[in-house]
Amino acid sequence: MDSQLRSQVVFHLTGRLPDDDGAGQQLPAGLRPALLAQYRNLDSIRHDFPVVFARGPGEYVVSLAAAVDGALRTAAPQGSQGEAMRKRALHVERLIREAVAKSTPGTLLQAWDSAVTGAGTDDAGRRDMTTVRDALAVDGELAGCDSRLPSRFLRHAWAVVQGEKARAARIRIDALVLRLEAILRADYARSAAAFQAANLQQTFGGTHQALFDFTKMSKLLSPTASQGGLDTPRRARIEWALRTLREQAFFPAPGDAGTQESNSCGFAFDSVSAALDSYRHRLPDMLSLLKALSLAELEVEGQFVEQLHAPIFDGMQSQDFTAAELQFFPDYLVTLDSNAPGVQADLVSALSSGMPVKVLLEVQDLLEEAAPGQGRFSFGMRGSQLASMAMAFGDAFVLQSTASNLLQMRDGIQRGLRHAGPALFSVYAPADGESTLPGYLAAASAMQSRAFPAFSYDPGRGSDSATRFSLENNPQPDVDWPLEFLTYADQDLQAVTEELAFTFVDFLLADRRHNRHFAVIPRAHWGEGLISARQWLESPPADAATGLPYVLAVDDADLLCRVVVDERMMRAAQRCREAWHRLQELGGIHDSRAEALLAREKALWEQQRAIEAAALAPAAIPAALGDQPSVAAEVPGTAAAEDESAPDPDTAYIETLRCSSCNECTLASPKMFAYDQNKQAYIADLKAGSYRQLVEAAESCQVSVIHPGKPWNPDEPGLDELIERARPFR
Ligand code: SF4
Repeated sequence: MDSQLRSQVVFHLTGRLPDDDGAGQQLPAGLRPALLAQYRNLDSIRHDFPVVFARGPGEYVVSLAAAVDGALRTAAPQGSQGEAMRKRALHVERLIREAVAKSTPGTLLQAWDSAVTGAGTDDAGRRDMTTVRDALAVDGELAGCDSRLPSRFLRHAWAVVQGEKARAARIRIDALVLRLEAILRADYARSAAAFQAANLQQTFGGTHQALFDFTKMSKLLSPTASQGGLDTPRRARIEWALRTLREQAFFPAPGDAGTQESNSCGFAFDSVSAALDSYRHRLPDMLSLLKALSLAELEVEGQFVEQLHAPIFDGMQSQDFTAAELQFFPDYLVTLDSNAPGVQADLVSALSSGMPVKVLLEVQDLLEEAAPGQGRFSFGMRGSQLASMAMAFGDAFVLQSTASNLLQMRDGIQRGLRHAGPALFSVYAPADGESTLPGYLAAASAMQSRAFPAFSYDPGRGSDSATRFSLENNPQPDVDWPLEFLTYADQDLQAVTEELAFTFVDFLLADRRHNRHFAVIPRAHWGEGLISARQWLESPPADAATGLPYVLAVDDADLLCRVVVDERMMRAAQRCREAWHRLQELGGIHDSRAEALLAREKALWEQQRAIEAAALAPAAIPAALGDQPSVAAEVPGTAAAEDESAPDPDTAYIETLRCSSCNECTLASPKMFAYDQNKQAYIADLKAGSYRQLVEAAESCQVSVIHPGKPWNPDEPGLDELIERARPFR
């Protein structure tokens, strides 16, 4: 082994180069996955960002590009004049995109005016741009794809939904107030007080008051007046309901000091405990308002029955609120940082509290690296795994997405915000300045690489996982890693086209926080021992020297280089792929049980066909049957399974068809065990581990499908004891 290869192997296995002082390797400036080289100048490409948080009716968020396209459709005439207008508008759009990338705040119309001024166009151009501006169908704050986007996006979407709720609630409350007031007014109009002289006088306009003697009028009218239709308890009930409806503080009337915008602030929190305190504090008022609404509705319909309804209202408790009742009230919006201590407990507490809550989980770093001695290298615990965990609550709406994909998910986000129950929105947006890529690309590559796949779980869609779970718009969802072609110039300046996978390690290559797991290999040392990360992940070599994983990258000058990845990062990539497989199965892709069932049915069908064919040609029966795979031989316990095709008990094997894909053995000994395309385990390399590991795997397999056979290395210590432990699994 030459010294270069040796140092590469040492780096792969230990994460350290020979001259590494512990500070990690210096990677070339701006290093990025080769597949992303074409997006170097992102601002010049029309894409989903920036977005406009639209005010008013219609879509609550639209991309700048869509807003400009819409305006041009309306304003641009056909022909060369329209073409010139289009070009100018796209130039202005690009200037706005650049301004937003520099974090220049403001609304679309403000940004449009600044960009037109900055563009320095002539009078005709300015007139054109005023025409397009007037045709813009939306206005509102602009937002780029940066670390603040998840909170701005959710807050805006949430305020829109709370506004809808408030309007509906006000209509219901105001209508009841009017009808209750009418009941009281009608009752008063029949009462003796209404016919007193002073009160009669007030009902006439000032110009006519001198024409009448109200004392005589009172005497004339009073004897015929009824004494009022409401008994005292009913009047008290109605007055209480009216007072409660008028004084409720959940839905201020438009124009009140507490408008919806300021009111919604009282429902947005950065901690679950503060939201819970507020919720508990408001419970008595919520109970009163619900009672007042129900009571008022019964009274205005004349359906309140004292003996029936009074005990029900007396017994109403806040702990008996139904989901539909809670849905009437404003939702609490709680924003959590996935890196905050105790976030997992906070999340469980919020989703199980019964509070009408929508949680935004902001994820900024997908890798959590355990310190030495604190366990294995783990990743995504606080991000993707928390969202997956939340699905176990059953009634919680769960949506996971990267910031770059939020616009695509806008309908799903609104569905979640309108869901009658808790909802979790887990959104990844990389911390500003940590990636060599712009925010949009860094977030998009997290989704592309399966590091943070998009999915939604909507309990409102049905009763089973097949209808509730959706893998949304992940690219090429039926494969492990999306594949794309890259064309580049080789050493002889010849164009070479290569199919590359965009893997988890490609994504992390651009994150400066994880530079120490990568080492650039100079072109002169691109030896035989290097294999692509994709190949390595398909079949990790037993000997590191025969297959060092690398990814293709480009530096700031777009020079192609290979970057070797250390083993810890590759293991993290394996775990990422396993998590992706679990999501695929939930989404009905490569469903291992369905595929095993299908294989069995297919074999049965083929066997039946062979029998039928043989029946038509009796002489051919033995040959026909002999050609077909025997289903019975695959099913333990059948006669055929026990004949000469039964496995040799001295040879290690797995009953792969019965494997439940629990990951136990594949995680414990990833070189010895692997999954097949149905995500069921088989022995990939028996000698990649010890007999002890095999026996321990058999003991921990929940469905007892691992059969260790006999040891293959007579020198392994403790064999007598291990053979004894293996006996039940023969
Ligand atoms: S432990 Fe058993 S069930 Fe689990 S993956 Fe391995 S073989 Fe399959």
